[in-house]
Amino acid sequence: MTENSDFYLKCRQGIERAFNQGGTVLVDALPALRKSTGVVQWAAESGEKLVVFTARNDLYDQLEKECEERGVSYRVLPSFIRFCSTGGREEVHGEKWANRFKQKYAEGYSARELHTDALKHFDEPLPCQQEGTCEFLQRLEEKDKEDAYDQYDILIGHYVHLFDRTYSESRHVVIDEFPGDSLLIELSSGAVNSAINQYLDEDSSLPFSTRDDLVGTRRENKDIERWLNETGWLTFDSVAENWNKYWRKTDAYGAILTRAILTSKKLGQWTRATLRDGTVIAQDKNGRVVILPPFPFSEDKTVVGLDGTPSVEAWRAILGKQMKPISVLNDAEKREWLGQLGLRLIQLAETPVPVNGTLGDDRYRDQALIEGITRLEGAAPFVITSKNAIGNLKLVDQNPEWESRHYGNLKGLNTLDGVESALIIGSPQPSDHEIQKWAALAGSPAVPAEDEEGNRLRGNKLDFGDVGNDILRGFRDNEVLQAAMRFRRQVDESDNETRVYIYSNAIPEWVRPEVWDVDIRRWDDGRGMSQVVSVLTSGEDWGTRESTTGEILEMIQERYGSKAKGYDQVVNLLHKLTDEFELIRRVRRQSYVWSNLRLEERGKHCVVAIAPPDR
Ligand SMILES: [Zn+2]
Repeated sequence: MTENSDFYLKCRQGIERAFNQGGTVLVDALPALRKSTGVVQWAAESGEKLVVFTARNDLYDQLEKECEERGVSYRVLPSFIRFCSTGGREEVHGEKWANRFKQKYAEGYSARELHTDALKHFDEPLPCQQEGTCEFLQRLEEKDKEDAYDQYDILIGHYVHLFDRTYSESRHVVIDEFPGDSLLIELSSGAVNSAINQYLDEDSSLPFSTRDDLVGTRRENKDIERWLNETGWLTFDSVAENWNKYWRKTDAYGAILTRAILTSKKLGQWTRATLRDGTVIAQDKNGRVVILPPFPFSEDKTVVGLDGTPSVEAWRAILGKQMKPISVLNDAEKREWLGQLGLRLIQLAETPVPVNGTLGDDRYRDQALIEGITRLEGAAPFVITSKNAIGNLKLVDQNPEWESRHYGNLKGLNTLDGVESALIIGSPQPSDHEIQKWAALAGSPAVPAEDEEGNRLRGNKLDFGDVGNDILRGFRDNEVLQAAMRFRRQVDESDNETRVYIYSNAIPEWVRPEVWDVDIRRWDDGRGMSQVVSVLTSGEDWGTRESTTGEILEMIQERYGSKAKGYDQVVNLLHKLTDEFELIRRVRRQSYVWSNLRLEERGKHCVVAIAPPDR
């Protein structure tokens, strides 16, 4: 049996190994292994300087706390979200100001410009500047000074700070969790076309003048090919080379998008181009474009990615093919770690069960699952599923006893620790676009496999190829595991456990959860059955009462009058309740006599049985 401290030690050693070996490394370490501690500790012991890029407030806070505890000096980088009371902390000057600020920011003005030129943009000074200089601006001005950060051991910033050379120049880089879309610029096909046309309009020296020219040009016109080669135009242009400086200014995109069209290669239904400065541009079949700007790191820079449940291929898309993954625990140790945390994972479905938002019959199934777990546990489970599925569930269960969260608002939430039982319904299914986007950025096609008739394979057979599948599992299976791990963030010295029931098989393979049987059958799918069950369960003595078919029929007629179901149908339904649902009992005397078996266990809409498999 491994001690807890050994797990933390392994994580620390993994981080140490990553820094010592240098280059680009991904450290794969499950949640709660104290990755932030490991990083700060390494900085404290080695005396090396770091910059840590992250996103969530809780990760910022954790890093700051670690630095303080270990006497490591740190500085949080300027961010209007964190430090400007106008644009970032709307509780100070109100939502209206925050929205005005963010609106301008979205139009492409920098947060600095909005501060220094507030009168021009807002016709009045910013409220954050009324009493002295806004803290965001103070931090920006600090950055302008030479040697500004020399005195700090660790800088803490957001993923968008990754692109600013100042912060990483003489430091090792740590990227805490996968930055995802916050690194990308995404453009609609309309925006792409107009940026290209505008660029071609403005530069009359080019041998093509419209986007259509450009697309047709490449292979057909030898003169243009020659012109491109002779002028070296594809490899140099001051705008293209420095487009990064015009970050978020659409006018700068024309120069690089034009080059991307002329140099792109096909990847399935996508195309991809790498520009000379390292910018990667990928385009889907509908013309939508995604741009991944290059990081300003020198080749020998140490860059360490940290992730609890990574998709290695998605990380390769941003860090490059030379990235080396390090797993701090092997699969058996990972399982042991889940046990140490007191997590018991129980799988309830044989397919991924993608959560979808449509208002279908799924809500009855979902409610039955909650009822089933509530009966097993003696209390309602905490529910995690999609936002829409929660909304749909509340239409069936208007006064729910269960608490819930949807997949989208789990990150950074630590208050679930110690919940006794939880139910995760379905897995978040990334769209094809999402999977193909990251695969294209990584340089691979991700084409969904089809059967012999040309129908796309689904469910357990869904297949995007090696790279696409790794991304799919990273965004789906690992998301499910992350959700499950929300319920235990600390080692539990007592023998308490949290049982997490997962209605999906989208769980990383190494987990090897218990697999239980689930049987859910809707009993109230017709008006007739509701009538029968309603009379069988009325009156104080219903639990023990014995009734003949005639008596039951009479009660139905009395209650429902002209709408009452007839003899044949009622008899059929009574047999169904006996044989199929096993909710009532039947004995034959002169005629049949019916009595309750376990009608009280029927759910509102379904009969549900959840149990470990028969041994
Ligand atoms: Zn401000």
